[in-house]
Amino acid sequence: MRNTGYYSQFGGAFIPEILVPTFDELETAYLQAKDDPAFWAEYLELMSTYSCRATPITRLDNLSEELGGASIYVKREDLNHTGAHKVNNVMGQGLLTKRMGKTRVIAETGAGQHGVATATMAAKFGFDCTIYMGAHDVARQRPNVFWMEQMGAEVIAVTEGSQTLKDAINEAFRDWVTNMDNTHYALGTACGPHPFPEMVSWFQSVIGTEARAQMLERTGKLPSKVYACVGGGSNAMGLFSGFMDDDGVELVGVEAGGRGRGTGQHAARLAYDDATIGVAQGYKTFFLQDRDGQMQDTHSVSAGLDYVGVSPILSHLHETKRVRFEAANDNEVVAAMQTTVRREGLIPALESSHAFAQAYLEAPKLSKDDNILINMSGRADKDIFTVADAIEDPKWREFIINKAKGYQQGINQ
Ligand SMILES: *Cc1c(COP(=O)(O)O)cnc(C)c1O
Repeated sequence: MRNTGYYSQFGGAFIPEILVPTFDELETAYLQAKDDPAFWAEYLELMSTYSCRATPITRLDNLSEELGGASIYVKREDLNHTGAHKVNNVMGQGLLTKRMGKTRVIAETGAGQHGVATATMAAKFGFDCTIYMGAHDVARQRPNVFWMEQMGAEVIAVTEGSQTLKDAINEAFRDWVTNMDNTHYALGTACGPHPFPEMVSWFQSVIGTEARAQMLERTGKLPSKVYACVGGGSNAMGLFSGFMDDDGVELVGVEAGGRGRGTGQHAARLAYDDATIGVAQGYKTFFLQDRDGQMQDTHSVSAGLDYVGVSPILSHLHETKRVRFEAANDNEVVAAMQTTVRREGLIPALESSHAFAQAYLEAPKLSKDDNILINMSGRADKDIFTVADAIEDPKWREFIINKAKGYQQGINQ
């Protein structure tokens, strides 16, 4: 075990001996890049020409009026290429991969969003790319697998264990151990062994840096509260880092309440009391686990928040109370999304809609002088199957049935 990358008791790097030189190399490359203003300039240039940085801030004019309290602003990470903040992290790691002289990237993916972002980066940089995905998820997430393969990535369906995200992570580490000379593991969130939590948060800090300046320019002051959904914690860390030193700004992280407190079917590691501190997947944090340290099953309507662990940096900020954690349940989340679509014409991803749900709950209790800011971490195009099912839209059902019939009759082939 290496003695770096701790945030009070959380974090660390619990890695096999054989990977120590690779982690040392990565940490050195990261620290040198961080010290080199030319690296960040290249990153910003890439993000402004390939993605959509700086992403704007949008005021929710209709809902601010209707809810009757604070003015609600939204940071538009949905406008990024591939539809979410994930590309911020992935493109940064792509530049770092190039800097280390490596030619191949691997990644884990659950719902497939991080897989698509990584395959995109690999296509752009000309890297070979392998994506590990639980076999269950491969079956459920065909549209994302389709794009990964179109972009030249090899998608490996992992048939170990529960055939989901955690098994994909284990396989990715196994690959890295055998191929570390030419391969970088582009981990997808602010979790895992040091330096990943810190490094991913650094790339995502572009969100908070922009947002702070934009709120000052737009409203002449800082927001009273900022909201972000929390899966692994990368979009939250990105937004929060911009306001970390502003004592007057309350930071609110919103986790997946799933079917609610006490049901055992959620992914609220910090907002509820079900999670305990442990070491797994190479780092120490709060995990949803049983007494023997077996990881529990999680549930959320949004695939991207459905993770057993959480960023060790956020566990630390939970204990120091710098960040307040709440959870929004599935029904509240779908309702908040529908409200946002209907009243503002914005289509927040189900993940992001957790932050919207909590903000809508709190906005009416604030005064007209308050501004609050929600991170719209992504857009919901990917969620159309889930949302249409959740609201039981009959025309969608008819469309799917007809499509399937067409395939059976060979019409679409
Ligand atoms: C993946 C994803 C998340 C969750 O990841 P974090 O690392 O917690 O940010 C949130 N929102 C969207 C749109 C995502 O795709």
